[in-house]
Amino acid sequence: MSQPESMRRVVVSRERIEVVRAEVPTPLAGQVQVRSVAVGICGSDTHAAHGRHPFIPMPYHPGHEVIGVVSALGEGVTSVAVGDRVTVEPDLPCWGCKMCTSGRQNLCENLQFFGCGWEQGGMADYFTLPANRLHAIPDGMDDRTAALIEPLSTPVHAVRIAGDVAGRAVVILGAGTIGLLVLAVVRAHGARRVVVTDVLEAKRDRARQLGADDVVDAAASDAADQVRSALGESADVVFDCVAVEPTVRQAIMMASKGGTVVIVGVPASDVSVPLAIVQDHQVRIQGSATYLPEDYAESIALLASGAVPVEQIVTRIRPVEEVAAAFEDSVSGEQIKVLIGMDPAFG
Ligand SMILES: [Zn+2]
Ligand SMILES: [Zn+2]
Repeated sequence: MSQPESMRRVVVSRERIEVVRAEVPTPLAGQVQVRSVAVGICGSDTHAAHGRHPFIPMPYHPGHEVIGVVSALGEGVTSVAVGDRVTVEPDLPCWGCKMCTSGRQNLCENLQFFGCGWEQGGMADYFTLPANRLHAIPDGMDDRTAALIEPLSTPVHAVRIAGDVAGRAVVILGAGTIGLLVLAVVRAHGARRVVVTDVLEAKRDRARQLGADDVVDAAASDAADQVRSALGESADVVFDCVAVEPTVRQAIMMASKGGTVVIVGVPASDVSVPLAIVQDHQVRIQGSATYLPEDYAESIALLASGAVPVEQIVTRIRPVEEVAAAFEDSVSGEQIKVLIGMDPAFG
């Protein structure tokens, strides 16, 4: 297929979010060129756009929740073929450090991240990546569903490193996209009882519709006590998908005694915690960072099995020309997952 000489690319700077013309990238040896079809907007994108992400410098080229079609192969690539539908595993490990050589490349000591500070992102008509960063989308999985493979992999990883949740009492703090996807994963894993908190009533209602046993207003001064009575006990695992001081404190109080607090949200700043409770009540605080290929595999399987109500998670789709408005949608509190259509036929 002949390729155009230039393409559209989204650039996020402090002043604006805009679509510019850029050169079409050519795949080097071992790389694949992908024609982008659709891209999700992530909390990390909107945080970065407002200068509130700790690790993304400006301006940047966004788009790490991306699906597309393989459009050209670099020398030596045999794992995919032109025309294959793929999604991206966006972390770019060095493959040489202690973490990479022990199967923990999500924690690479030299980690780069496609669409988050990297020179390329998925909000461009074409991009290039090492072939091993691509996962095949199963035949029969529609594009909207496939666009959730990356976002769902984060909760899948968090649940796995929490030590699983089958038969356990679980709390999820924050009913945004990540919180609702954590809810879908813990339900699929057989959590016994699940309570979700959020400051917004509309989001609490949504969490209830999507399978929470009960919901609690996170702004209530006794939110931790309300959650304990809604659970009927302390929490075995609390997933903090907000990661601000009040939620971390609540999470520790809910997990007391002997529970685990998993920090899933990206904190915008340091917080102080009731450390005496953490020590004396043997509370485990566990960070969770992105995912590994096995998390992608489970995410794909969960989506293929219908465990995630995609129609209720993907609430807005806009063409790339409306990317600035799409970022606004994403922070409005009205939408869950907002997708950008790169391919005019998507949507
Ligand atoms: Zn993301
Ligand atoms: Zn490494």
